[in-house]
Amino acid sequence: MDYNTILNQIYREVQPWIEQGKVADYIPALADVPLNKFGMVVRMNSGMEYSVGDSDESFSIQSISKLLSLTMVHTKDQSVINQRVGVEPSGNPFNSLVQLEYENGIPRNPFINAGALVMADCMLSLYDNAQQELLNMFRKLSGNNLISFDPVVANSEREHGYRNYALVNFMKSFGNIHNNIDDVVDLYFNQCSVKMSCTDLARTFSFLANRGMCIDGDIITDVSQTKRINAIMLTCGTYDAVGNFAFEVGLPAKSGVGGGIVAVIPNHMTIAVWSPGLDRNGNSLAAIKALELFTTYCGNSIF
Ligand code: GLN
Repeated sequence: MDYNTILNQIYREVQPWIEQGKVADYIPALADVPLNKFGMVVRMNSGMEYSVGDSDESFSIQSISKLLSLTMVHTKDQSVINQRVGVEPSGNPFNSLVQLEYENGIPRNPFINAGALVMADCMLSLYDNAQQELLNMFRKLSGNNLISFDPVVANSEREHGYRNYALVNFMKSFGNIHNNIDDVVDLYFNQCSVKMSCTDLARTFSFLANRGMCIDGDIITDVSQTKRINAIMLTCGTYDAVGNFAFEVGLPAKSGVGGGIVAVIPNHMTIAVWSPGLDRNGNSLAAIKALELFTTYCGNSIF
């Protein structure tokens, strides 16, 4: 397969989609990101990498960070899934509050904001210095020691994150948040603010395509944990658009409102795409289009 040719072809074809989306201006610091960006990296399990466009430019990974917090919680305490958070798609926007009341403060899955806030709470209980250990893990998995939080984005979310404060308070009233509310949202806003490039992301999450083995050869997740995390990505990774994403793209994936999407072809490769313009579900328009073209041109999805 000639991946360079395929990526160049995709780059040309997505151009009309790139400026059609809308940046996530509900987080004011993200409103300043130029719309006309597009980067894509394909990393094979062999270590071979192919890239096109703005693939080495860092951006706010936002909800893609939920993939790492889920991994760090699930590998330490398997009981969290099912007891504190479910594994079903919510069918609602990522920041919705409605189901939480009649489902007794148990979020549908770890990728909607409510579920990720529970994961942040679990991180605080399971790790001595959760923020630093999360950052260290990002650096180890990407092989890039410069990865860090972006205080401007984190503060912007802190100042405007009324819904996230509402979610965490509401869940605390059901007993599903064990730590101090400010510590939970602080970790959550910081993890969402992490800046990475498509190259960093494809390396970081390559363990999910490689039966749990990360780029330095260490095993991060066992085969069963890897299966489970990929399964949650497939059913919940792109929020209330997840059915359409599976239909069009056919891969487990996790998106973020910074415009990034990470997708996995188990046992083969990891793909990271970035373009800041979002559709109404909060997923990058051009990145979804690029992934759809990729699985179509390669004739390769999980189905
Ligand atoms: N930090 C964002 C929020 O809490 C993350 C949302 C996302 O990327 N979908 O709203």
